Amino acid sequence: MAGTRPTQSKLDMVVRTIAGSMVAEVCSIYLRRASGELELFATEGLEPGAVHVTRLKQGEGLVGEIMRLGRPLNLSDAPSHPAFSYRPETGEDPFHALLGVPLLRGGRAIGVLVVQNRTSRTYAEDEVEDLQIIAMVLAEMVATGDLLSHEELKDVEIAPRRPERLKGSKFADGLAFGVAVLHETPVAVGRLLADDVGAEEARLTTAIAGLQAQIAGMLEGHEGILGPSYDVLETYRMLAHSRSWNHSLQEAVRSGLTAEAAVERVRSEHRASLGQARDPYIRERVHDLEDLNDRLLRHLTGNGDKVRVLPDNAILIARNLGPADLLEYDRTKLRGLLLEEGSSASHAVIVARALDIPCVGRVAGLRDRVNEGDPVIVDAETGEAYLRPRPDVVKAVTARMGIRAERRAEFARLRDTPAFTRDGVKVTLLMNAGLAVDLDILAETGAEGIGLFRTEFQFMVSEDLPRLTAQSDLYSMVLDAAGSLPVVFRTLDLGGDKVLPYLEAEREDNPALGWRAVRMGLDRPALLRMQLRALIAAAAGRPLQVMFPLVASVDEFRAARALVERELAWAQRRGRPAPARLEVGAMVEAPSLLWHLDALLPLTDFVSVGTNDLMQYLFAADRGNPRVSDRYDPLSPPALRALKAIREACRDTGTPVSVCGEMAGKPLEAFALVALGFERLSMPPAGIGAVKQMVLSCDREAARRGIDGLLKSSGGSVRGEIESLARKLSVDV
Ligand code: PEP
Ligand code: MG
Repeated sequence: MAGTRPTQSKLDMVVRTIAGSMVAEVCSIYLRRASGELELFATEGLEPGAVHVTRLKQGEGLVGEIMRLGRPLNLSDAPSHPAFSYRPETGEDPFHALLGVPLLRGGRAIGVLVVQNRTSRTYAEDEVEDLQIIAMVLAEMVATGDLLSHEELKDVEIAPRRPERLKGSKFADGLAFGVAVLHETPVAVGRLLADDVGAEEARLTTAIAGLQAQIAGMLEGHEGILGPSYDVLETYRMLAHSRSWNHSLQEAVRSGLTAEAAVERVRSEHRASLGQARDPYIRERVHDLEDLNDRLLRHLTGNGDKVRVLPDNAILIARNLGPADLLEYDRTKLRGLLLEEGSSASHAVIVARALDIPCVGRVAGLRDRVNEGDPVIVDAETGEAYLRPRPDVVKAVTARMGIRAERRAEFARLRDTPAFTRDGVKVTLLMNAGLAVDLDILAETGAEGIGLFRTEFQFMVSEDLPRLTAQSDLYSMVLDAAGSLPVVFRTLDLGGDKVLPYLEAEREDNPALGWRAVRMGLDRPALLRMQLRALIAAAAGRPLQVMFPLVASVDEFRAARALVERELAWAQRRGRPAPARLEVGAMVEAPSLLWHLDALLPLTDFVSVGTNDLMQYLFAADRGNPRVSDRYDPLSPPALRALKAIREACRDTGTPVSVCGEMAGKPLEAFALVALGFERLSMPPAGIGAVKQMVLSCDREAARRGIDGLLKSSGGSVRGEIESLARKLSVDV
């Protein structure tokens, strides 16, 4: 291969060698041209005249099918397969058996390698494996230019190179220009073939042992606290110890691959066999396996426990992200996020918004079109992604980024201006937070406190359950940072889409309606009490506000409140300093409460409306499912009437009420909330400037009169009408 002979004769030699060693009558290589067509580049056994003549369109014929599926096809009678497409120039009539494997590079097929035999035979499993290993080596050689001279390679599409614009949905506002970082392929496999098989085997064994020890460490000492959920992490541990996984890895190394290449090969095998599964449970397991592979690769490269190093201006590219995934990256370098799937109300996106990272989601075909290191623009103003943008596009976007920066500077100037409406109503603007790092921006935003501290974020970023002291340390740091400003701590809101590997219970068909939030806390009082104990300890002499998520009945609130009282008594018995003042509140997220506020409110010190969940339950539309999450509009008569009913019930009992869902941070939505009478809004920090500008330009009484008329509308959404109202009243939305 390393010789100087012309490329064509190298390829001819490759197919001849493969055909000989696999005892096949035919061996052919097809590579993809930039046009998307698959071209026959070399063959042993088919008509030589077909080389560079036979071309198959995307998805055409069995070769196209292998390319599309990204996995092997092993057929004893190829012509009877529905995808078979006969090409007379190849003279392939007499061949029945066919085995084809994709040439995979970075998870993307760049061509196909095929062997054929006259007889109707099925290729054995080890033959399939052999051909896959050959294909892997071949793909690497084609891609790195070892095999094809540059002239011939010019038009072979190894990786997309042209500028592209892909349409998606706006998830988190903003604009970013940077360099693509692929979330799913953290470690590149550089060297494929082992110089010393024994040494590679030893490296693999050491890395697997390291991985197993790391997972055992996560499990250690948590049986008592975790109860049945312990089993889930245990499953994870069992996967790492799985004989078949270990066996496949060792087999791959024994076949002559480096340990890294072996992991990569076993991974593509798993992806191929399980990746197309629709069943969410299997998809989750694929996710676990991917995660194990990534961890193992990091152990091999000696980076077992380290986080990834990002380039400056990184744009993260992923299929989807779990809530904790984003937090594993260095946020000072993360500029933007592009997701192939996802939904705007998922917690990962909420984290993105909290971190002020622009995000465009549901970008179809994204991961196939972008390469690690490509220049990328995230345009979350229009919901588009530009891959390898042309200089004029970069210039236009950079100019828009400048304008945004000016607007921000304008908001910064308003930082110390209190938010009064034009008719003198004070609107308190608070921020949502969840991590110690959020505290840095508290002062910067001019927020008047933290209206929602999502305590579960600490749990999501830890590898294992945060202990009592770790919890109280964080809470006390939050209170220190807030100084005299109020902080509302929400107790753990786990379950739903916020699952922890070490705390997940059994699989649920409807997790959003399942065992989550306060339900989990009440059934597992040890966990909730530990948290309450940590909160009381952290407050020590300072005021403490605690609220419970997803309360669905008055009894649940009573039971939760009783636990607070118990913990307070416990602390007092031990002579620990009590909070200066303790207020206990409920989140209004379950529609059931709307018809029992008269009973609930007298038991609470305050309430906060979680519109993200309230809307999902009100409209029976899963906030995490892109097909349904945006079907309804919170600016619609039913949603606004529900909010108005809450506001009025709180007025009747004199209960302080805030809104802390995402809508509170969007100027138009916040305008509607103020018009309905809400005077406390808690939102992602990035929303505060724009919402304050809205409040300052708003006449509340006029807004109230305007919105009242819209509540009876028969339309599904009154967004347009509210926009007109804001325009008429010259409100800055
Ligand atoms: C909500 O549901 O509106 C809310 C603020 O809580 P979370 O988004 O964390 O569920
Ligand atoms: Mg909620």
